[in-house]
Amino acid sequence: RAYLDWNATAPLHEAARAAVLAALDAGNPSSVHAEGREARALVERARAEVAAAVGATPRQIVFTSGATEANALALTPAIETADDAAPRDGLVVSAIEHPSVLRGHRFGALPVETAAVDRAGVVEVAAVEGALARLAEKGCRRPLVSVMLANNETGVIQPVAGIAERVHAAGGLVHVDAVQALGRIPLDVRALDADLVTLSSHKAGGPKGAGALVLGPRISHLAAPLIAGGGQERGVRAGTEAVPAIAGFGAAAAAAVASLPAAAARMSGLRTRLAEGLHRIAPFAVELGAEAPRLPNTLAVALAGLAAETAVIAFDLNGVAISAGSACSSGKVAASPVVAAMGFPELAGSTLRFSVGPATTEAEIDRAIGVWQTVVGALANRQGKAA
Ligand code: PLP
Repeated sequence: RAYLDWNATAPLHEAARAAVLAALDAGNPSSVHAEGREARALVERARAEVAAAVGATPRQIVFTSGATEANALALTPAIETADDAAPRDGLVVSAIEHPSVLRGHRFGALPVETAAVDRAGVVEVAAVEGALARLAEKGCRRPLVSVMLANNETGVIQPVAGIAERVHAAGGLVHVDAVQALGRIPLDVRALDADLVTLSSHKAGGPKGAGALVLGPRISHLAAPLIAGGGQERGVRAGTEAVPAIAGFGAAAAAAVASLPAAAARMSGLRTRLAEGLHRIAPFAVELGAEAPRLPNTLAVALAGLAAETAVIAFDLNGVAISAGSACSSGKVAASPVVAAMGFPELAGSTLRFSVGPATTEAEIDRAIGVWQTVVGALANRQGKAA
């Protein structure tokens, strides 16, 4: 089979597998005895590895069950900064955020504005400024802004550092969902100057069940934990740490970053081979986001008239795993809100996402191109009959 759905989840990295297995029998990291201290050492080692992978210090890392939880934890009005304990009074989200941001935020009845995305898949600084101005008209003075670093469907990289500069100038704070960036492009939370950054283990070769929220230097406290209890993770996320998942996350993050420049070049070469192969067969197919800076591993291709839902099944039956729309979140294939937001509503149900990883082979790419030939041939056949 060919697995070209790394943005949904990446296969478990060998180093992560070893770390998970070594930690399966760990004690409770909060126990004072030797078994507890050993477990604590595993968690703290992972914390240091995740921190180093993103240019943070270990103290900044809060482990969660995954990115969905980290996003929900971050997107609360109850964020205290060193010089301002008053709650955030409004939220800006980009139009292409993951559902765990769009539906998972905890702003309740407070004003929420959306920053639009352009046809290249980019959330421009000006779009965020417009959304901030609309919030200001509603009297909001302490906004929180959530813009992802790289989109999960198109791979388009957002101008987060520029956005952060504007938001801070306007008295706001910035949350960045960097889930798809880890291990694919260099990720430095200091350079981004973000206040809250979300990471996920399983998108970067770690096991499912772990993620992290990175608290930037401005943040002194999150006053609204999702899970209260024993005071673990700086009192922000209670519950005995998932030691095996966290240990695997740390190992995966370290491995991903260590192999980054070579892995990125490899993924980019494979993506080019795939894009060229698909275009040869269907010259009218549109490569979404191709004009913008993109992750090296992601290719979103839209073809007018294609039923993405059926195509994904055809690929699967022919041994190729890909996805369409928001398949990774719902288990069923829906029209892509991201593609619609980019100004192509007519292509929202006709877009396929191919995503590769460092272990993807040329044979997998060629297999996908072969299936595409069949899928496009069948479509042409149907359209010919309909004409
Ligand atoms: N954010 C983005 C951009 C994603 O692609 C995903 C995964 O689909 C998530 C958040 C949710 O991640 P997790 O599966 O760790 O909850």
